Amino acid sequence: MRNRRAALAAIAGAASLALTLTACGQSGEGGSEAATDSAKGGTIGIAMPTKSSERWITDGANVEKDLKAKGYKTKLVFGEDDPDQQVSQIENLITQGVKALIVAAIDNKSLNNVLQQAADAKIPVISYDRLILGTKNVDYYASFDNEKVGQLQAGYLVEKLGLASGKGPFNIELFAGSNDDNNTKYFFNGAMSVLQPYIDSKKLVVKSGQTALTKVTTLRWDGATAQKRMEDILTSTYTSGRVDAVLSPYDGISIGILAALKSDGYGAKNKPLPVISGQDAELASVKSIIAGEQSMTVYKDLRKLAQVATDMVDASLNGKKPEINDTKSYDNGTKVVPAFLLQPVSVDKSNYEKELVQGGYYTADQLK
Ligand code: BGC
Repeated sequence: MRNRRAALAAIAGAASLALTLTACGQSGEGGSEAATDSAKGGTIGIAMPTKSSERWITDGANVEKDLKAKGYKTKLVFGEDDPDQQVSQIENLITQGVKALIVAAIDNKSLNNVLQQAADAKIPVISYDRLILGTKNVDYYASFDNEKVGQLQAGYLVEKLGLASGKGPFNIELFAGSNDDNNTKYFFNGAMSVLQPYIDSKKLVVKSGQTALTKVTTLRWDGATAQKRMEDILTSTYTSGRVDAVLSPYDGISIGILAALKSDGYGAKNKPLPVISGQDAELASVKSIIAGEQSMTVYKDLRKLAQVATDMVDASLNGKKPEINDTKSYDNGTKVVPAFLLQPVSVDKSNYEKELVQGGYYTADQLK
């Protein structure tokens, strides 16, 4: 019902936009110049995947702020982690006459048809943080070095366990992100490039035996799903022995895993929590790091990502080439999408103040 109403409103909006444009044309005041102006100052559609994770709310706000500063209007939608809803939201944005689209996909393979509609309407598309697969109708990709994210997570576990100086063996359990997010395999492969040698030499033991990516993904990055999987592993595998480390791809997943561990008695004096990674520097996880529970997170400065993506929009709409620093890593199955990749940063208790507080990402008060 809500969707239908939104669709009707969209059609009404498009009709009134068309009327306005016709009226402009009839006024005879330099028709083509007026059209260029409206392209420059037009509305940009932003489709974010969900409000259930803080990072995407921040992304939406940052992107809107930057676009407004560049003189654009914005329409921001969140897809509630439902791929069909995201497709219909993007269809609505196209109907409403947006000049460009910034899309962080929920399901990277579900957008082919709707992006064909965007291409037919000559709307440039920026793939935001998550690469959209299987279509030529994606112009640029703005993200981070995603393999590096996994390397930082695993590198931290290796360092804290002292594996490089010969300690071990230790038990580790592996978690990965959503299987419909293209980033998942980059994070996981990056992490495994660091962990595999220790697994091969038996200094790291995945006691559950669940090592293949297909066995360790977490649909839609859901913390409760990860919590349940950790509980099952603890019950089935750790009647003896303990979990020493957990590879977790994202803060919300880390929080679920920590809840499972704590209800199994981890965190008590004689049963310390394992070393556990994360990603996104979400507020709850930074607080957990400060409290000595989650060990680290991978901080990705979303202010910079928004800047990169909105520069791509601005350049595309003004016939310019945006700045690109990678033209080979991100093949979406149809084309290699020109990308700008930012650098992620490993953050733990020792450097959160420098990176997050002095860096202006959070105030000291927010972290209390
Ligand atoms: C993003 C991560 C985020 C995850 C879950 C990924 O595509 O790159 O930063 O943790 O989605 O929202």
